[in-house]
Amino acid sequence: MSTGKSRIGVVGAGTMGNGIAQLFAAAGHPVTLRDLKPEFLDRGLAAVGDSLGRLVAKEKMSAADRDAVLARIKPTTDAAELAGCAVVVEAVVENYDIKAGLIRELDAICSEETIFATNTSSISVTRLAAASKNPGRVIGMHFFNPVPLMQLVEIIRALQTSDETSQAIVSLTESLGKTARVSKDSYGFVVNRVLVPMINEAINCVHEGVASPEDVDVMMKLGTNQPMGPLALADLIGLDVVRNIMDTLYNGFDDPKFRASPLLKQMCDAGYLGRKTGRGFFTYAK
Ligand code: NAD
Repeated sequence: MSTGKSRIGVVGAGTMGNGIAQLFAAAGHPVTLRDLKPEFLDRGLAAVGDSLGRLVAKEKMSAADRDAVLARIKPTTDAAELAGCAVVVEAVVENYDIKAGLIRELDAICSEETIFATNTSSISVTRLAAASKNPGRVIGMHFFNPVPLMQLVEIIRALQTSDETSQAIVSLTESLGKTARVSKDSYGFVVNRVLVPMINEAINCVHEGVASPEDVDVMMKLGTNQPMGPLALADLIGLDVVRNIMDTLYNGFDDPKFRASPLLKQMCDAGYLGRKTGRGFFTYAK
């Protein structure tokens, strides 16, 4: 399959979907961006416009190029418009039934050659592939937030993913200027499996009174050369998301070493979810 400047479908125009649409359009691909309501598409396109506008303000992109990138993104609420896409990347809400339903819907709309890539952070790609009548075409394409800036794309091969699908998605990812690394399908894949238990352990240090949040973050930043401390990162990711990933690891591996910190659970129960609620381990002006 040639993925030259083929049409790419992106389903979901939220935080990740609009970044993914921007990335493909900036690389010259025509993009069909699908969401459920026009207002969700408007919000997604406004976010792309803001992101490109910052590049124009920094003189890293011309106004004409910004307009050309935006013009390559065709918003739609009609799933049938995904018919001509070589690859469809889904970035809808993290819910198995919704994602599996979408894969079945795409099976009926797209050609046999179309690849379905899921940006799930925690759902088994193997289980999602099983929802397709052609599971060899399903693969994980795990982007990181913010998509235009983050260099890595984790490529996750479901048990059923074909070699052709995997090779095509690695080439496509590299053609976008990103670094692709392939892993087998496993709970949390690689990055979250390593990162999130580290964050959880930082939370346990606070829970046990070993050190304050400020001190834990300074120690980890200066002692391990991380650009951001684990607790500030937890606030950025969202404590509910951190908890969900710990629960995925705990339930998936059936291993107590992945148990969510009691303090993490309490903070989620209190609604202290980090930046998005103005309060997590640190406080943020609204
Ligand atoms: P989000 O809530 O910002 O956006 C989801 C969008 O999907 C919404 O606009 C919603 O209207 C739309 N949607 C829901 N069902 C749909 C359907 N059936 N058809 C079309 N559109 C539909 O979510 P997000 O943060 O962008 O996350 C999307 C996916 O990316 C999730 O699977 C998440 O786990 C994953 N992910 C998120 C991050 C992150 O940092 N936010 C990082 C990596 C992966």
